[in-house]
Order: sequence, then structure tokens, then C-alpha cells
Amino acid sequence: MPPPRPTDLLRIMTPDELVRAAIEVAEEGMAHGELPIGAVIEMGGEIIARAHTRDRSWGRRLVHADLLAMTEADEKLGWAPRPHPLRLAVNLEPCLMCLGAAMALKVDEVYYGLDSPADGGSALVADWPASPDLPWYTPPAITGGLHRDEVQDQFRRYCNQAPDSGFRTWAQTLRSR
Ligand SMILES: [Zn+2]
Repeated sequence: MPPPRPTDLLRIMTPDELVRAAIEVAEEGMAHGELPIGAVIEMGGEIIARAHTRDRSWGRRLVHADLLAMTEADEKLGWAPRPHPLRLAVNLEPCLMCLGAAMALKVDEVYYGLDSPADGGSALVADWPASPDLPWYTPPAITGGLHRDEVQDQFRRYCNQAPDSGFRTWAQTLRSR
């Protein structure tokens, strides 16, 4: 049998699979007492970074799942040329900060599950005026609504078990949308 060609080995994950992987990471976070928010980053069929939010365990604000996953991906990729598009999946719509980070990291595609009306940034970055002076600094292509019901169920389960806190109050706004 001839050895497999590189193109045979490469199987890009579907958007559905990417968001499902993010949901699994969110589930791990919830098992550790965090909000159920998880993110994965894929390039060329390989998940190169994954993280859940760390708000509670690290006691900080700038520890969103997607930002932590992008930081990990940035450490791996640096400025080296990329052979494949870089894709981010999150179970919840990314906020403005994380979409800004996605633009700085030059993420090509973003997939998410549930809209986040209070802090989701998709609509705002869609209007970003691209400049010919920095042509790569543009918003990624963003697609939401994948496995939305599953994500709502995660927030529902979180609210049923979490102690009263600002996190829980906010999570309650997401479980019923
Ligand atoms: Zn964020």
C-alpha cells in the first residue's frame, strides 16, 4: 500500500464539530465551578489551543475562554506564515475584546453557538472600516447559532447548581433566550 499523501491526512473540522468541541471544553470549565464558556482554535484539521473561562478560579476579568485560547495559539504560531486558515470556535458569542483579539491574531473564521445580547461583539466588528494601510486587519467571518439549544442547556444547568453571584445573574439571562 502506498504511503498516504499529506492531503489524505488533512481533514478540516466542520463548523459543527468545532462548536461541539468548544461545548465540551465549556463542560470541563463548569465541572470546575466556572461559567460554561469554552473555546477551541483549529488550523489545518488540528486543534492547536483550547481553554475555558477562568473568571472564578483566577479571580480576574480578562480571562475569557476565547482570549485564553487565542493567547495559547499566538504563543505557538507567532508571526510565522500559516498554511491554513485559523479558525476559532466558542460556545457563546465572543465579546468585543475577544473579537478585537481575533483581528489582531488574524483569525479567519469564528463559529459560535448562542448569541450573547449583553456583550456580544459580532454586530459591532462587522462594521469595522478596513484600511488599505493595514489590509489584513479585518474582522473574521463570523457564524453563530450552531448547537444553540445545547449551549442554552449548559447555562440552564449552571444556573441550577451555581451559588448566587453576578456570574449567575448574567447566566440567567442566557438560559432562556
Ligand atoms: Zn471575551
